[in-house]
Amino acid sequence: MKITHTAANPTRRGNADWFTGTVWQDPVIDAPGPARVRAARVSFEPGARTAWHNHPLGQTLHVLHGVGRTQSWGGPVREIRAGDTVWIAPDEKHWHGAAPGHGMVHLAIHEHQDGVHVVWLEKVTDAQYGVEPQRTE
Ligand code: MN
Repeated sequence: MKITHTAANPTRRGNADWFTGTVWQDPVIDAPGPARVRAARVSFEPGARTAWHNHPLGQTLHVLHGVGRTQSWGGPVREIRAGDTVWIAPDEKHWHGAAPGHGMVHLAIHEHQDGVHVVWLEKVTDAQYGVEPQRTE
């Protein structure tokens, strides 16, 4: 058993190559092999979002706080709120982030395949981000 204390686990700023706006990442699960699961708590300031990307083995997002948006390539922009859980299938191109007027915090959980847990693609443009979202209750 290993306990990681929060003071030894500093918050990291999201890399500007892969995120638009200010994003903070706190690692939650970084287990050694043969475990493959990774998890991070990710805090997006209003308007901040990931670039387009995919995950070789898929990803689960669980929204802990605030109001966000997410979209799969070719699909509608969807609104997500605290308590919502999103499953993104393997290799499904997508993005996720905060709403324009709200911060959003989610837990992101994914497994890696041969060390790869995310494949980064192009940035989400302001025009793509600005599409009015659909809210499905
Ligand atoms: Mn993702």
